[in-house]
Amino acid sequence: MGGKCPHRKVKKRRYSHKTDRRAKFLVKGDDMVYDELKKPDDQKKDLPVNEDLPGMGQYYCLHCDRYFSNVAVQDEHFKTKHHKKRIKQMMGPAPHTQLDADLAAGMGMPDNGPKLMSM
Ligand SMILES: [Zn+2]
Repeated sequence: MGGKCPHRKVKKRRYSHKTDRRAKFLVKGDDMVYDELKKPDDQKKDLPVNEDLPGMGQYYCLHCDRYFSNVAVQDEHFKTKHHKKRIKQMMGPAPHTQLDADLAAGMGMPDNGPKLMSM
């Protein structure tokens, strides 16, 4: 026997939320964006022209790793809550990295944080 469970009332999610759709933008990991932001300015001022990207890849938000089709859209984005949150996040301590994941999985050096009683 198969088929749908007759008791299932909740409809299948439709992935209409923006967070769910973000996958298609191929967002880099936070640690990658963070690394990008740490680079010296002369390494990141020139955006390569890419015809496949919106606006030829010339309107880019480094913090969110997103491209925009024109400067107006980019400006709009800079005003969004999401973007501001993102900047705050990138200004703070380093985001979760692969190293953290390895450590959490029991690989690599154990790090118990800085000693609180360093006298
Ligand atoms: Zn942004």
